[in-house]
Amino acid sequence: MAVTPIIKINNLSITYFKGRDNEMRALKNVNLEIYPGEFVIFFGPSGCGKSTLLYAISGLETEIDGEIIIDGQDISNLKSRDLELFHQRKIGMIFQAYYLIGSLSVLKNVILPQVVNRHKSNKERKKRAMELLSEFGISQEYNRYPSELSGGQQQRVAISRALVNDPDVLLADEPVGNLDSKSSEDVMKLFSKLNEEQKKTVILVTHNPSHLDMAHRVFFIKDGNLVSIKKNRELGEKFISKHTESASSEHPLTQDLRLLKKIHPELSLDETKPLFKNYKAREVIFEVFTGMTSEELSSLEKYVDKLLVSGVNDREKMFHYLDENIKNGGLGLDKRTALNLTNKIKSIVNKINELGLEGKGADEISLDAMILKLRSYLETEFKIKFKKSEARQRFEDRIRDRLDGKINKEQFQMLINATFSKGGVGIHIRRAKKISDRLELLLLGRQHQHYKN
Ligand code: ADP
Repeated sequence: MAVTPIIKINNLSITYFKGRDNEMRALKNVNLEIYPGEFVIFFGPSGCGKSTLLYAISGLETEIDGEIIIDGQDISNLKSRDLELFHQRKIGMIFQAYYLIGSLSVLKNVILPQVVNRHKSNKERKKRAMELLSEFGISQEYNRYPSELSGGQQQRVAISRALVNDPDVLLADEPVGNLDSKSSEDVMKLFSKLNEEQKKTVILVTHNPSHLDMAHRVFFIKDGNLVSIKKNRELGEKFISKHTESASSEHPLTQDLRLLKKIHPELSLDETKPLFKNYKAREVIFEVFTGMTSEELSSLEKYVDKLLVSGVNDREKMFHYLDENIKNGGLGLDKRTALNLTNKIKSIVNKINELGLEGKGADEISLDAMILKLRSYLETEFKIKFKKSEARQRFEDRIRDRLDGKINKEQFQMLINATFSKGGVGIHIRRAKKISDRLELLLLGRQHQHYKN
């Protein structure tokens, strides 16, 4: 027998400020089905309409065109009181900012939504709340106030609250966006557990690609359209973390090669080495200068390639080369461009050499130290002003994710560009691009040098 979807959306469109100059079509003709017990992710860039779709499913978005059928019931036809009851019984919601009530204790926050259940005594309500708090390892905090808890603990309280009426569907809007990477991983595992063990249907909104493989299916959203659906695994099939590779496992690869494989998993080992052999110099050139003829490019490439081994010891010599006429073996650039290029190339090449040289030999630089170095270099070089120390930490975490190969270059850029409240670092898009280009350059440079030495 075919499984009936628990959620079915037909031709859903949502337009804000309809008919006005600032009309905003947040969702355009979305059709989808979600099955009981599925874990799905709505994924896409900031502002694409993910949250709007989630709130529409929760019944909180009322100005809609189209149908939202949950458990056979078209919620757009419900009167507001019925909708409220439906929402409280069927749906548990979890938000990035937790939305706990600050003046109530942890326990009272979790007891509160149970008021809809008139048949339950206060004692039963308290018992249920305590059971959940203890399931999520925070029962000892029951008498404290939310502000006294860490972010990860507050989100566990919020998850307990969402589950207290035993809803079938859990909706989570960027639930780990405010958490550090460790708490974020813990909370994400909770969602997997609730899905696998309690068979909750989980719908999670995120713009963080490192979570995508946890879901059965990923719905990709762009500019208000559902553009594609990716199936990761069958319903009922367990999620097995792909990031469990043991650091101590015997591997014939060097640390740099392992790093390279992680960052570029699409490459086979045989492809890796030759591909990166002469990559760094070319990348340096692309970074600092475009629009040269291929002859000029390859001449400059050879020059920079030499510098990558020797370092930029002689600025004058380099400037002279860039400035000298082509027939005399130089590049024939005008003086200002040559000077500008000299400074840029010197700075990048020296940084690559610094990272590369320290990465050699028996006492290789630790990954943590390298991440710290990269963070502090990028911060100074691009004059990044972090408004909060947490933003700096997130920036460092994303560098780590990139080095771990959990995200690719574009994803790194998108994640550091996303606003702080959406879990990002809030770096302007153009600067985010430059920073991500530079990070790639340094990473490739490090690997290239490994082969040179
Ligand atoms: P996402 O969750 O993907 O970041 P949203 O669903 O929050 O995106 O928003 C989609 C678009 O709709 C955005 O351009 C946003 O500014 C706009 N939007 C969202 N909510 C409202 C609202 N209540 N009023 C007006 N515009 C809104």
